[in-house]
Amino acid sequence: MAGGSPIQAVLRARGVKGKKVSNLKRGSKEGVTSLIQSIITKKQEVKDPFYILDLGVVVDLFKKWSHHLEKVQPFYAIKCNPEPAFLGAMAALGSGFDCASRGEIESVLALGVSPDRIIYANPCKAESHIKYAANVGVNLTTFDSREEIDKIRRWHPQCELLIRLKAPDDGAARCPLGPKYGALPEEVVPLLQAANDARLAVVGVSFHVGSGVMRSQVFHGAIAAAKAVFNAAGQLGMPHMHILNIGGGFTAGAQFDEASGFINSALLQYFADEPSLKVIAEPGRFFAETAFTLATNIIGKRVREELREYWINDGIYGSMNCILYDHASVNALPLACSSDSDNPTCQGKKRYPSTVFGPTCDALDTVLTGHQLPELHVNDWLVFPNMGAYTASAGSNFNGFATSAICTYLAYSNPFQHE
Ligand SMILES: *Cc1c(COP(=O)(O)O)cnc(C)c1O
Repeated sequence: MAGGSPIQAVLRARGVKGKKVSNLKRGSKEGVTSLIQSIITKKQEVKDPFYILDLGVVVDLFKKWSHHLEKVQPFYAIKCNPEPAFLGAMAALGSGFDCASRGEIESVLALGVSPDRIIYANPCKAESHIKYAANVGVNLTTFDSREEIDKIRRWHPQCELLIRLKAPDDGAARCPLGPKYGALPEEVVPLLQAANDARLAVVGVSFHVGSGVMRSQVFHGAIAAAKAVFNAAGQLGMPHMHILNIGGGFTAGAQFDEASGFINSALLQYFADEPSLKVIAEPGRFFAETAFTLATNIIGKRVREELREYWINDGIYGSMNCILYDHASVNALPLACSSDSDNPTCQGKKRYPSTVFGPTCDALDTVLTGHQLPELHVNDWLVFPNMGAYTASAGSNFNGFATSAICTYLAYSNPFQHE
C-alpha cells in the first residue's frame, strides 16, 4: 500500500483522484439510498441508470481478506468488474490482478501497476496476446494443454507457468469452470514432462473450484490435489515448485469465513513443510459484488387487475445479464422519488405482485416476476443492491441501450465515522 491509511490510499488512487466521493454513514438513513435520492433530486434531468460504488465496502473487504487469509495474496479477477475507479482502489490497496486478455492487461498497466503484479490466468491464449504479454513483461501464466505449451515456448519462453488443475469437486458452484478448464489427474504428469522438455519453468499449480461455490470444503480437496502435483513434479526431478494459486469462488459473507477456515487448515495440513511457498488467489465476486448498487428509472407501466408491470431502463441485455449468465437472483427496492417524495421508500404501503421488464423489445428481457412492490409510477426508481459482480462487465448494447455508458458515482461509507 502506498502509505497512509487504506482510505487515504484509495482516495489518491488512479480512477478515483479528482472525482467527487460522497461521504456516507453506513447502515443509517444517510446510506446509499439517500445518496441515490440526492443524485436524482439534484439532477432532475438525469433518468439514465447509474451505479454507486461504495469504496468503504472495498476497504472493509480488503481488511477482511487480509485478516482471514493473511498468507494469501489476492489477484483480483478483472473480468468480474473492470470499473476504472474500482480497479484503481484495488491497486492502491495492494491487490494484484488476474487478466485473461490483452485488453485486460492494458487496462491494469494503465493504472501504473507493474507487470509482476499481473497473472495472465487464461489457460488458452491467442498467440498475439501471448506476444503482447512477452513485450510488456507479464511473466506468469497458466496452461492445461500441450498446444498451450507449444505456443508459450514459441512466443514467450521465459514465461513462468502454473499448471491449472480441474478441481476434484465444484461444490455445487453457480458457475462451474471444470467443464472447460483444468488438467485431469491422468494428464498432469505428461503435461509436466512436456513443459519440462520444452524447457519451460512450471513454478506451481492453480485451480478454480467454480464461481459462487456453495460447499466451501471443496477447497480442501483441491489443495490436497495441488500438493499431489507438487510431489509428482519432485518425483520427475523438476525444479521445486513454489506457487500455489487457489483461484476464485469466494462470496462476501458467511461463505468466506467458512472457505477461509478450510483453506487455512488445508494449507497447514499439506503445505506446512513448504516455508518458501507463495500462495495467491484470484477473487472476483468477493470484492466486487456488494460494493456496487444500481439505480434504474421506471420508464413504463401497465396495470392488469392486481398485477403491476413496470419497464425500467436496464435489463437482461445490460447489467441484469447476470440473471442468465451468472445464475443470479436480483432484488429490487422501490424509490418513489417522483410520486411520493415524503415517503420515497414506501414504508407501510400495500404491495402488489409485480413484473419488472427491461427496456429492449425482447420478451426474454424480464428482470423479475411475482416480485412484491408498492404502487409505483413512471419516473419513479428501482434500486438493485449487490450488483457489482458479472453485471456491467458482460452487458451489451443490444437495441441501442448501451450498458457501457452507465455512469458510476463514487461514495465512501465509514462504519466508524472517525473521518
Ligand atoms: C472468473 C475467474 C476468476 C474469478 O472468479 P470468482 O468466482 O468471481 O471469484 C478467477 N480466476 C479465473 C481463472 C477465472 O476465470
